[in-house]
Amino acid sequence: MQNIYDVIIIGCGPAGLSAGLYSARAKMKTLILEKGKTGGQIVTTNEVANYPGSIKDATGPSLTARMVEQAEEFGAERKIDSVISVDLNEKIKVVKCERGEYKAKTVIIATGATPKKLGVPGEVELTGKGVSYCATCDADFFTDLEVFVIGGGDSAVEEAIYLTKFARKVTVVHRRDSLRAAKSIQDKAFKNDKIEWVWNSEVHEIKGDGIIEAMVLKNRETGELTEYKAHEDDGTFGVFPFIGYLPLSDIFKDIIDMDNGGYIITDSDMKTNLNGVFAAGDIRQKSLRQVVTAVSDGAIAAVQAEKYIESTFDE
Ligand code: NAP
Repeated sequence: MQNIYDVIIIGCGPAGLSAGLYSARAKMKTLILEKGKTGGQIVTTNEVANYPGSIKDATGPSLTARMVEQAEEFGAERKIDSVISVDLNEKIKVVKCERGEYKAKTVIIATGATPKKLGVPGEVELTGKGVSYCATCDADFFTDLEVFVIGGGDSAVEEAIYLTKFARKVTVVHRRDSLRAAKSIQDKAFKNDKIEWVWNSEVHEIKGDGIIEAMVLKNRETGELTEYKAHEDDGTFGVFPFIGYLPLSDIFKDIIDMDNGGYIITDSDMKTNLNGVFAAGDIRQKSLRQVVTAVSDGAIAAVQAEKYIESTFDE
């Protein structure tokens, strides 16, 4: 069958790249579709300390670059194209993108998740002008300035620690009075003199004309509003919301089974409810979203795709 891939992988984060590596290494004709930003969320992470065997000081971008290299070494093809719609019910699956249409015997969905937004006035207008969802990308802009990190999970606390390498002061604003982050990460943060804490508070508004000039916080217990103004000498500060992620599964809505949060439901072989369609990585309903679980999902999905092809297609 000409011009028909064995496997199309949608998404180029650790799950997609791992699936690509395993699929191409099994000599399957493999296409990895990426929207434009290779690596997914991991490229926004400066330190990858908990990926077993990663070299000391490995960063998200460096780990991604090696994953891409490996997948390509085995023959995986990569295309930058944005998926518009999919037709996954037939034996040959069709993936329609902005630049073209691709066909495959199997599809692995590895679209991952995107940072949740605060949804407060000023956030959209000031994104890229002080509001950032990527400390690795933007920390440098805040050298010797103040920054606020919003959230109390692993991401918020880890990124707050990272930001202390650049910023003069990092204030973590959390909506409760205790953190969700792992104890080991909390301990490190509580020992860091550059980090201050604002508890039981949420962002009410971010203000500024072209750059952030002030932010209003609301105390959830008292309802009191407090305005933080940029220091006169600084003129601005940074706001880094790390309040969780949303699955990028909209195009599969009403096509593939998902939970109420929009995460795709699979079995332990990464099979979705549709034959020949698998999901891997953060897009799946799962208990642990980490690089190590994403790459594991990708490998399983690729091996299962191969088994599915062997049992379904007579060549
Ligand atoms: P998360 O664990 O879902 O934590 C989100 C945090 O943001 C929570 O503290 C939550 O408050 C707060 N929050 C949610 N919505 C909010 C809102 N509208 N306004 C203010 N605060 C809000 O998300 P995450 O930290 O990004 O982590 C996602 C997953 O990746 C987790 O499974 C995490 O373990 C994993 N991760 C692991 C590592 C690591 O192992 N090194 C690093 C990063 C991420 P509440 O606590 O009150 O709900």
